Amino acid sequence: MKTNQNYATLPKNYLFSAVAEKTRAFQKANPERSIIKLSIGDVSRPLPSVVVTALRKACTEMGKSKTFRGYGPEIGYPWLRKAIAEFYTQQYQVKLAPEEVIISDGAKSDLSNLLDIFDPQATVAMYDPVYPVYLETNLMLGRQPQFFYATAENDFLPLPDESIKADIIYLCNPANPTGVCYNRAQLQQWVDFARKHQAVILYDGAYACFIQDSHLPKSIFEIDGACECAIEVGSLSKMAGFTGVRCGYTIVPKQLCYQGVKLNQLWCRRQATKFNGVSYIVQRGAEAVFSSAGLLAVQKNIAYYQRNLRLICRTLQALGWQYYGGEHSPYVWVRCPQQMTSWQCFDFLLKTTGIVCTPGVGFGVGGENYVRLTGFNSYANTRLACQRLLQLKK
Ligand code: PLP
Repeated sequence: MKTNQNYATLPKNYLFSAVAEKTRAFQKANPERSIIKLSIGDVSRPLPSVVVTALRKACTEMGKSKTFRGYGPEIGYPWLRKAIAEFYTQQYQVKLAPEEVIISDGAKSDLSNLLDIFDPQATVAMYDPVYPVYLETNLMLGRQPQFFYATAENDFLPLPDESIKADIIYLCNPANPTGVCYNRAQLQQWVDFARKHQAVILYDGAYACFIQDSHLPKSIFEIDGACECAIEVGSLSKMAGFTGVRCGYTIVPKQLCYQGVKLNQLWCRRQATKFNGVSYIVQRGAEAVFSSAGLLAVQKNIAYYQRNLRLICRTLQALGWQYYGGEHSPYVWVRCPQQMTSWQCFDFLLKTTGIVCTPGVGFGVGGENYVRLTGFNSYANTRLACQRLLQLKK
């Protein structure tokens, strides 16, 4: 018996475990120090009350024989698929049919499972620095991706060029870890490129709810021709505090077809065989997110995190540290001061301020000399962290 040898090619420690390990060791050695995590990619605001009410109601239904439900449709209940399709029409002016929306337990699972429907020999391209899941799921399959680099020179928004040769192209917008966001014309370039080269774009819109500027596209399907070359993955995690509840969706347009095969059918087939669907209770909670009360609560939560982000950005300006993002994204991408490496800056911030950041190099070589901060902590903690950062100026 042989194990999957590809696992040996994975980075030794998953980035966030390495950060957690170092933080634990520091706290153990310095029990008197207070630590503030500006590294977290997890939300801190609780679920909107309208969601909690819907979850409770669904629980009660499950406890009565008349309204009890067993296995549901693997690809999601029609009412939730319809609610999401309508949300896209109303909020983004993107016309979708409910059949194009397939419900899942989150974006991470979909982004890795989608690889099942492509040829094992398919080639892959992604940006660097990158959300580690895109890279590691491909490494597990023995694929070595091609990278296009997000650098200060291209404002961390790489555009297509003819050196990119891939069947599958990952785009994350707004981007994790750099917090930057493509405009319409830039996304159009990617769509045109994918159509020209018969490639498919796997578009990760997990942070779309953070885009505040109405001129910026929130869905790839706002771009002409995207229905013929893109799959969009969405998540309720950051949008509505579902990181622990688990619900997301993938949009596979009906027109999306390669060599006469419809990807929508393949993805539904894959999910029907390998996935049992999201629980009825969770889907009722998710449905409540897309109600008018739910969307209002989402806006309030996003505004809460954005207040934190404004504070972080103002603090960095006062320190004279260069940074990107933080406006249409929960992430601020900070150039390490005094030419420190990412891990040196991590150690420096931890020792001097008790602040935990995420070292940029953990997202790829292109992330070296940067660290990532997030607006997901409480306002009180973020304010305290910023006060401590300002002390570094003295
Ligand atoms: N995509 C990106 C870019 C992320 O940063 C994350 C989580 O941090 C996810 C997807 C995962 O989303 P979900 O919680 O829906 O699995």
